[in-house]
Amino acid sequence: MNGDLKEVWNKVLEDLQNELSKLSFETWIRRLEPISMDDDSIYIEVKDNMHLNKALEYKMLIQTAFNIHLKREYEIEFIIKGNSIPIKEKEVKDTLKSKQVNLNPNYTFDNFIVGSSNEMAYAACLNLAQHANMPNSENILTNPIFLYGGSGLGKTHLINAIGNYIIQNHPNLKVLYISTEDFVNEFINTIRNNDYSNFRQKFRNVDILLVDDIQFIESKEQMQIEFFHTFETLYTNNSKIIITCDKSPQNLKTLESRLITRFSWGLTVDIQSPDYETRLAILRSKNYLNKLNIDDDILVYIAHNISNNVRELEGAYKTVTAYASMNKNFNLESAKKALKDKFSPNNIRKLSPEFIIEIVSSYYSITKEDIMSNKRKRQFALPRQIVMFLCRQDINLTYQEIGKIFDKDHSTVMHSCSKIETEMNENSKLNLEIQEIRKRISS
Ligand code: ADP
Ligand code: MG
Repeated sequence: MNGDLKEVWNKVLEDLQNELSKLSFETWIRRLEPISMDDDSIYIEVKDNMHLNKALEYKMLIQTAFNIHLKREYEIEFIIKGNSIPIKEKEVKDTLKSKQVNLNPNYTFDNFIVGSSNEMAYAACLNLAQHANMPNSENILTNPIFLYGGSGLGKTHLINAIGNYIIQNHPNLKVLYISTEDFVNEFINTIRNNDYSNFRQKFRNVDILLVDDIQFIESKEQMQIEFFHTFETLYTNNSKIIITCDKSPQNLKTLESRLITRFSWGLTVDIQSPDYETRLAILRSKNYLNKLNIDDDILVYIAHNISNNVRELEGAYKTVTAYASMNKNFNLESAKKALKDKFSPNNIRKLSPEFIIEIVSSYYSITKEDIMSNKRKRQFALPRQIVMFLCRQDINLTYQEIGKIFDKDHSTVMHSCSKIETEMNENSKLNLEIQEIRKRISS
């Protein structure tokens, strides 16, 4: 039995021992032997037909115990000794290892579709994964990688792909994936229990630290200091650090400047909304991998109509597959009906001033109330003016209509719009910011 599988099995045995009578446990369970697992199933060997029948009675119990320890759904398959199944040892090991370091084994470079929107991000991540065993000074790769972009565009997928690649190809390196939310929660517990050494031991003792959604440490000062020291220690030790975020380092408004500087030491790379070709390629690849035969014209229809992000693309695809599985004659027309609700509200939402306010306020990390207020500080006035400018330019509202939304007169709105227009030409940072906001609105 593979070592990792054995470890889980021992835990399962402990659980079952508590649940069953000593006699049943010793007679029927103790002698079972898990021999292998793949993505979906765990294979357990039984001695003969009689043991198989008895084992089947306990199947759900065993399955539940496994799933609790592995935090995923597996099917238990019993095999009578001698009737072997192909054992994919390496796969087994990697899947289990992924779980131990928090990685999602389903996110790999192999199943990530590359297009112009994400090729830089993909190349940077793959390069770092390939050279993860080299000292920082000696290789051409850049460390840290700061990967940013809107929601649902593949950041979590890529950062997991780095981890999964490394545990397969550089098995002696220690990888740790953590969402910033969990990092923050663990830190809060650490403060509560006054037990810093465990926390530091865990995070400062790795070769590769993958930190997802760093925007969660905005406005958490103490956390930022702790993260700064973690970063320094890891960097000095040649460890690699990969960070994802929903905005660029410069736009992390309440972040300590020394952290922003550190993040910018390496490679900052963004990931944008996929173009039509990439969207279609993603859908086709999912269809192929799932061995489902959704007609290509349906995939084309989805790719045409959903441009926001890949998560939404997947959502539409899942809806279609659910309907298709219930209806033998499922075709493009049925797909249109099934997706009716998914497409239209989205489009309405995209075109509204409310949506622009939402995007701009989240981009600048201020509240919608701040945007709607009369506060004159540039921190609030600029985003407000940008909203007005975009309402005018991108959704063709009149100055009067915009004025009504903000309770301002027509000339104030006009002044704001022309101010932004002029400033965009002179200030390249602002220009870039507006480009990025537009991408989020239209994607
Ligand atoms: P983010 O972390 O940026 O919000 P995720 O990485 O969670 O986004 O991606 C959302 C979903 O879309 C995931 O299921 C992911 O596998 C899928 N996805 C995103 N980009 C791609 C891609 N280029 N190829 C294949 N699947 C992708
Ligand atoms: Mg994510």
